[in-house]
Amino acid sequence: MNVLIVEDERSLANEIASFLKAEGFLCELAFTGLEASEKIAINLYDFVLLDLGLPDYNGLDLITEARNQGSDAAFIIITARGAVDDKVKGLDLGADDYLAKPFALVELFSRIQAVARRKFNILNQNLNVGDFVVELQSRKITWKGKEVIITRKEYDLLQYLIINRNKVLTRNQLYEHIWGNILDDQYDSNFIDVHIKNVRKKLNEHSPTPWLETVRGIGYRVSLE
Ligand code: CA
Repeated sequence: MNVLIVEDERSLANEIASFLKAEGFLCELAFTGLEASEKIAINLYDFVLLDLGLPDYNGLDLITEARNQGSDAAFIIITARGAVDDKVKGLDLGADDYLAKPFALVELFSRIQAVARRKFNILNQNLNVGDFVVELQSRKITWKGKEVIITRKEYDLLQYLIINRNKVLTRNQLYEHIWGNILDDQYDSNFIDVHIKNVRKKLNEHSPTPWLETVRGIGYRVSLE
């Protein structure tokens, strides 16, 4: 799961990020509304944790912007206690849940899991991909019950393609997701190709992977029914 944390209180943002990273999430931070807006425009996120009290932006506008750009990220809004109007407006705009400050990190985590189950219906699920089973909870891929040994980065890459199945992801999107920064030259782009090649090789030792497609000139796609 790819999470954008939008929060101008840096210590809180960092605290949330380290907690979620320990739970296996990939986290990015935005400390201003503008930064968040730019990141949402170019990246795919599964979740956006959105503090509504930002210095430069009305947080609610970020939800509208994201929806206008076709983002289907789940938004969990974070409000100061008692800001009932913002909460109602946020939910009207399509936010998935809200939390009042201060909150416990375990509470945030259980909200994220609940939203993920409702919205994506995947977090605790095993996905059949060709002859393989991807166990999202334990972050393993198995073939006939036997674990296929791939590296953590390779797993992240594959899981990201599977979660976004039937969508073409560019090398840029994959790179940004896995390495957390933006591709700046051809060398980096080859990096993704090498990783995909390794994933294919390891999986193909067990069973063919026609579902892991190269989309010429663009990137990669996992095609599933
Ligand atoms: Ca704030």
